[in-house]
Amino acid sequence: VMASMAHLQEEKLRLQEEILGLQEKLAARENDEHSRALQLQGQVETLKAKLLEQAQEISRLRSELGGTDTEKHRDLLVAENERLRQEMKACEGELRELRRQQQVPCQDCAHLQENTELQERMSQLQQEAEEMRAKLAELELEVQQKTNRLAEVELRLKDSLAERAEEEERLSRRLRDSQETIASLKSQPQQIKYIIKTVEVESAKAKQALCESQSRNQYLQEQVGMQRQVLKEMEQQLQSSQKTAAQLRAQIVMYEAELERAHGQMLEEMQAMEEEKNRAIEEAFSRAQVEMKAVHENLAGVRTNLLTLQPALRTLTHDYNSLKRQVRDFPLLLQETLRSARAEIGQAIEEVHSTNRELLRKYRRELQLRKKCHNELVRLKGNIRVFGRVRPITKEDGEGPEAANAVTFDADDDAVLHLLHKGKQVSFELDKVFPPQASQEEVFQEVQALVTSCIDGYNVCIFAYGQTGAGKTYTMEGTAANPGINQRALQLLFSEVRSKAADWDYTISVSAAEIYNESLRDLLGKEPQEKLEIKLCPDGSGQLYVPGLTEFRVQSVEDINKVFEFGHVNRATECTNLNEHSSRSHALLIVTVRGLDRSTGLRTTGKLNLVDLAGSERVGRSGAEGSRLREAQHINKSLSALGDVIYALRSRQGHVPFRNSKLTYLLQDSLSGDSKTLMMVQVSPAEKNTSETLCSLKFAERVRSVELGPVSRKAELATWPSQEQLEVPEGPPMPFPRGGDSSGSAAPSGRGHASSSPGQLSGRSASIRRKLQTSG
Ligand code: ADP
Ligand code: MG
Repeated sequence: VMASMAHLQEEKLRLQEEILGLQEKLAARENDEHSRALQLQGQVETLKAKLLEQAQEISRLRSELGGTDTEKHRDLLVAENERLRQEMKACEGELRELRRQQQVPCQDCAHLQENTELQERMSQLQQEAEEMRAKLAELELEVQQKTNRLAEVELRLKDSLAERAEEEERLSRRLRDSQETIASLKSQPQQIKYIIKTVEVESAKAKQALCESQSRNQYLQEQVGMQRQVLKEMEQQLQSSQKTAAQLRAQIVMYEAELERAHGQMLEEMQAMEEEKNRAIEEAFSRAQVEMKAVHENLAGVRTNLLTLQPALRTLTHDYNSLKRQVRDFPLLLQETLRSARAEIGQAIEEVHSTNRELLRKYRRELQLRKKCHNELVRLKGNIRVFGRVRPITKEDGEGPEAANAVTFDADDDAVLHLLHKGKQVSFELDKVFPPQASQEEVFQEVQALVTSCIDGYNVCIFAYGQTGAGKTYTMEGTAANPGINQRALQLLFSEVRSKAADWDYTISVSAAEIYNESLRDLLGKEPQEKLEIKLCPDGSGQLYVPGLTEFRVQSVEDINKVFEFGHVNRATECTNLNEHSSRSHALLIVTVRGLDRSTGLRTTGKLNLVDLAGSERVGRSGAEGSRLREAQHINKSLSALGDVIYALRSRQGHVPFRNSKLTYLLQDSLSGDSKTLMMVQVSPAEKNTSETLCSLKFAERVRSVELGPVSRKAELATWPSQEQLEVPEGPPMPFPRGGDSSGSAAPSGRGHASSSPGQLSGRSASIRRKLQTSG
């Protein structure tokens, strides 16, 4: 660092020395410049003087010459002069500046720099001054030349002056001649004067012509110069166009080459196409030849065909002509055919009509015959039928030996059941026996035919008979989930009526009544307590009717349900214990079906009486008193009366004791004539009920074992045993035992089966029944 410091110090000193040197030099130079400036000023002064001189000279020359070249030269000089003057002025300005700068002492390095700049500028100016000098020298030279020329011009001027003098002399001479001539010609007037004048004028004219020719010459020279310029431009243009032409030529050569190439290509392609064309022509030709051959062959075929077709055509033409004839004749033929067809159809219709009439007549006859046959069938089958139904053992029967089953069935015969009573088996034969497992549906299937015959105008009675709790109400009414005969019968009637609706108009109406203690009450009436009377119709028809008995017209199952509900409510409000009450009264549902055959106008009325009888158990003997005894007596009486009536009917007795009870009296017209009756005897299978079961079954068998046919009509009137008499005594056999074991038993002969033994009769009726069943 010290070393470098020392080095820097040295450097500094050196630089200071240098600056001092430079300052000295500058001062010297300044002095120098100052002197030179003075010198220059002097020079300028002299130049000015010279210029002035020249200007004067020029003005003088101008005044002398007043013209052309000299004048131009002078103008130039003037311009030059002006320029020089300006330069001089600039020089003076600079000089002044230099002087001003010299008065300000240099203070720092910036000035030094300025100094150097100024020095440079100075040198520049000196250079310029040098140039100026050179120019000045030139100018001087020029001035010299000009002066020389001026001298020449002066010389020439002298010459021309001399010439002029000569001319003047000549002219004066001529003038003199002319004057002489004039003088000689003074005598001659005007023309001569004119010539003189012309001559006078001529000299001036000549001068003018000279001037003009000079100016013209100049003008022509300018023109020549201009023409030369134009020529030059033209040459240039020519050159450029030659260049362009060369370029174009090169391009043309290029295009030509390309054209050549394209031409070659085209030729090749043409060649190829030519070949292809030739080939295609050849192919087409060969193909055409083949086709031609085929066409020729075809033609030959067609020719032969044509030959064969000609006869066919001939026949066709013939056919066509005949057809044409036929077509022409067709309308006439058609009309004729139509007329005959119409006549035939009319005849046929007439025939059909008559056949229809005949058929209708036959149908009506067949209908009557059918009814007759049906009646006969019913008569043969017996229009009083007895079914037995055994209810299942229920919880109410309790347990132990008392609830044991005492009823058995025959596997091969559905009309037989066996009852074990006090150690002995007693067998009964009815028209049909339903075991405990038989459903409501199965029971109804057997009843169905009876119900539908009501639509054909028959009166029907269905009774449920048996001790209380044996299932009467269950069979007739059933439960809501499993309805009994009542509801099913009405449903069947509705569907039957609907299926016959095309030909028949039907109305179904319902009444419900109760017989308690031999008095009749309307279960659908407004006054259920009111006792109704049964009366003979006033029209003399012998028909019975119950004035005031309510009849509801029903059209649907809903209607029936409403009616049943209403009847139940009425019955229930009447008693304290419905179960007890219902077991001691007969409940009747009376359905009336009225029909009208629209085609024949036939009217039918059928009545279906569905009766849930009072309990058949014997209470009289158990020492009942008061109302209970009276009830029992009434029930006994009415059931005995029913038995009597059925017996009388089945044995075709002349007198049937309908009037012995309200029930038989009310049902008189539904029990007599060709009416049909079904007795459904309900029994309990329980051991404890065997004596009541036995009584019920005896009643049933007695009812159905009544002999059918004409013999029975003659049978003497027999009285039906009372309920009490039905009781089975200890030991002795049953009053009307089955089949062959009845001989020697009590009673049967007394019952009026005059022509044959009861056993035989029973066997016969059974065989008839079976025959009917097998014959369908
Ligand atoms: P009734 O009217 O003769 O006094 P019910 O019809 O009231 O007897 O029957 C007594 C009881 O036995 C009822 O509970 C009933 O439901 C029942 N019952 C009767 N028959 C049948 C049967 N075939 N199947 C099932 N239960 C029965
Ligand atoms: Mg009942």
